[in-house]
Amino acid sequence: MTALRRDLHRMPEVSGKEMATAARIAGWLEGCGADDVLTDLGGHGVACVFDSGQPGPTVLFRSELDGLPIHETGQPDWRSIIPGVGHMCGHDGHMVILCGLAKRMQERRPARGRVVLLFQPAEETGAGARAVISDAQFERIRPDFAFGLHNLPGMPLGRAATRDDSFCFASEGMTIKLTGWTSHAAHPEDGRSPADAMVDLVMKLPRLPKHLGFAAGEALVTLSHVQMGEAAFGISPGEARIMATIRARTDDMQAALMDAARKQANEVAEEAGLQVGIETAERFMACYNDRAATAILRDAMGATGVESAELGGPFRWSEDFGVFSSVAPSAFFVLGAGKDHPQLHNPDYDFPDEIIPTGLAIFEAIARAQCGALESSGGA
Ligand SMILES: [Zn+2]
Ligand SMILES: [Zn+2]
Repeated sequence: MTALRRDLHRMPEVSGKEMATAARIAGWLEGCGADDVLTDLGGHGVACVFDSGQPGPTVLFRSELDGLPIHETGQPDWRSIIPGVGHMCGHDGHMVILCGLAKRMQERRPARGRVVLLFQPAEETGAGARAVISDAQFERIRPDFAFGLHNLPGMPLGRAATRDDSFCFASEGMTIKLTGWTSHAAHPEDGRSPADAMVDLVMKLPRLPKHLGFAAGEALVTLSHVQMGEAAFGISPGEARIMATIRARTDDMQAALMDAARKQANEVAEEAGLQVGIETAERFMACYNDRAATAILRDAMGATGVESAELGGPFRWSEDFGVFSSVAPSAFFVLGAGKDHPQLHNPDYDFPDEIIPTGLAIFEAIARAQCGALESSGGA
């Protein structure tokens, strides 16, 4: 498992371009005697099905395929050989946990229902999960329950933690472009500078959650980039651009906050006589842990004897696993990558191989509780 993880780590691919990784995974799954292997699922997604042929639930386990456009600065022997691209979120580790689960399903096949292992593309851009469930092939793997995990630096190595209800925030990027017209810097009155409107929005946008009456920490607008005019002294600017990330605990709060931000941008631009263009990108739905699915997950944590904990509140970051809560009762958990481990997306991050067996044990316990196991026979 460790060798496979390190091989995947060496050859990372960014979101939407996971061709070689997907081929590698599909090859592995074919060697595990799966009853069905799906490829090109919502892009380069891959899935396999272990079908008992008996009635019972379809239980889906999900991992991601993509790396990040980050140059790896760590020096492990298995460091990325692709310049500027690295597995800096640990998706290599998540993949290998599911590859291990495929082996276990081969060794002792499910006795009832179906076990589905899904390797989803483009998690980092928030596009992959939605593309997978919109793919016509998804009907072949539509689950009754879905489970996923993410490794978490800052939490003790191998500790597993979850919670009911809200797990990760919804989020979306918004770009607001204000357009007036340029003039000579000696005669700004002959043009229409977006400066005042830009400053107004920079002040107002982060305060929107409070204006909407959301409790502190439940929703936020983070300015991520502001730019106006050209780097020149002779021109009064004609254009400005503001980028902000908008996040909230629930999808309803997120929708209200997005509407309020749009309205605010339109109002400010209209008052200043500027044109406004609004674009959005990287939309993540909130990740919501169904109570029944989370109970199944907690039982599995208990059964494996893994050190487990309850999370005090949802994470503010987003995870596109949230999309699966819209198709099936689902539950997500975090698995500690070590207290002093480099953070996700740090250039020196590397997935800790020690937690592969832990993630695998929890997933297998869920699969066995739901789908059982045939006694292993010589022919299996
Ligand atoms: Zn990431
Ligand atoms: Zn990730």
